Amino acid sequence: MNPLFVKVHGNDNVAIIVNPEGVAPGARFANGLTAAEAIPQSHKITLTPLAAGAPIIRYGEVIGHLLSGVDAGRWIREDLLTLPAAPLLDQLQLATRKFAPPEPLIGYTFDGYRNADGSVGTRNMLGITTTVQCVAPTVEYAVRRIEAEILPKYPNVDGVVAVTHSYGCGVAIDAPGARIPIATLGHISRHANIAGDPLVVSLGCEKMQPGRLLPFFEPNVIRLQDNRGFAATVSAICEQAEKRLVELNKRRRAAVPASELNVGLQCGGSDAFSGVTCNPAVGFFADLLVRAGGTILFSEVTEVRDAVHLLTPRCADEATARKLIAEMLWYDEYLAKGGADRSANTTPGNKRGGLANIVEKALGSVAKAGSGPIQHVATHGEKVTAKGLVFAATPASDFICGTQQLASMNLHVFTTGEGTPYGLAMVPVAKVSSRTALAEKWPDLIDIDAGTIATGSQTIEEVGWQLFHYLLDVASGRKKTWAEQWRLHNALAPFNPGPVT
Ligand code: CA
Repeated sequence: MNPLFVKVHGNDNVAIIVNPEGVAPGARFANGLTAAEAIPQSHKITLTPLAAGAPIIRYGEVIGHLLSGVDAGRWIREDLLTLPAAPLLDQLQLATRKFAPPEPLIGYTFDGYRNADGSVGTRNMLGITTTVQCVAPTVEYAVRRIEAEILPKYPNVDGVVAVTHSYGCGVAIDAPGARIPIATLGHISRHANIAGDPLVVSLGCEKMQPGRLLPFFEPNVIRLQDNRGFAATVSAICEQAEKRLVELNKRRRAAVPASELNVGLQCGGSDAFSGVTCNPAVGFFADLLVRAGGTILFSEVTEVRDAVHLLTPRCADEATARKLIAEMLWYDEYLAKGGADRSANTTPGNKRGGLANIVEKALGSVAKAGSGPIQHVATHGEKVTAKGLVFAATPASDFICGTQQLASMNLHVFTTGEGTPYGLAMVPVAKVSSRTALAEKWPDLIDIDAGTIATGSQTIEEVGWQLFHYLLDVASGRKKTWAEQWRLHNALAPFNPGPVT
């Protein structure tokens, strides 16, 4: 491959190296620029000479200022840059962007499971939820037995999922922060993919009693401290499970409009390509699904914070913009209480992948949110029922964000540059790579390769449409994602900002 860089915005004074092996000193690009030193793939090269103090501009935005002057063709690393201050939250434009009504996208459907509460599942599973970590190994034991001995008799059921977690006791359950994990687990326990109707296993003495987990629901509860012993308890769970499996097995998929998709978007192991390839392609998909009437959730507060000035103008009204600002402020204060700030977000892998700092990472991350208006802002633990583009506040931690999004989503799209095998038991997780090198290295983990956008062999629009069609197939059960095939099920990790006792 000839030396190749990709520049995103007309005002950018740096570009990203595309060549998988990087470029050598003296490498000459098509526009006449010469690399002044060896620069690895996905790292930044200066396009012009720049003086000390000059802004480094990527995505048309300032990602830092130079500590000393550099020539054209130099490698811009994290240690050459200062970190700009985060956008001031009291100086943002609120709902100032005007949007033409989106052109409706009609006629797209998928085969889903319509539930009694109106929600639509993309899978037909038996859910066994738990009120406390104490019962998790017992439930997991019972699930292994159900899968081996009972489930094969009910071929229309896709699986059995144990909603196990680390919450439920030993916590200040009346503290304000407790609302978040309790609400999150409550919504997951009534997920569309388990028909909104779980079995509940409780210990008996725990703080999060079944009525607290599911306040508006009369579940079938098996209480361990009421049963005789381990074997009797497992038998009780298996017996109740079989009764549910008989009912679930009668369900059939039926065509429903694409507007019934609630897709959670997340990125993990991001690199400097994420904001050029996979995230813009997912953003194009997000615009398509919104046009089809569906719901898109984007999240990860610390990866939005430094790009919030680009998002508050896009809110549908001022009240929504103020909610977005309130979520940023809450998280600033949460981090400050822990002696940290948003710069704590970036990982060694992000930096190896060419991301200098959280500003550059955030600008790439928000590309997932497409180009349309933000219709609703949901706080931590809120179940999203709005249609359109929604900011659902979560931490950026992959497994915590995924757990919170799970409360509302029936499909999950995960973009990655460095690579992660992440998956969830309850919803299909489709993984989109930022680079072709990752898709080639992990052909049995990456579902869609967006690296083709950097080399010019596919456009953002083409990959976005490819993802749209692929997800309709996955939602219909016609295709399984790699994470589903290998049964890669990350543990649920509810966000608990409240005290542990
Ligand atoms: Ca993440």
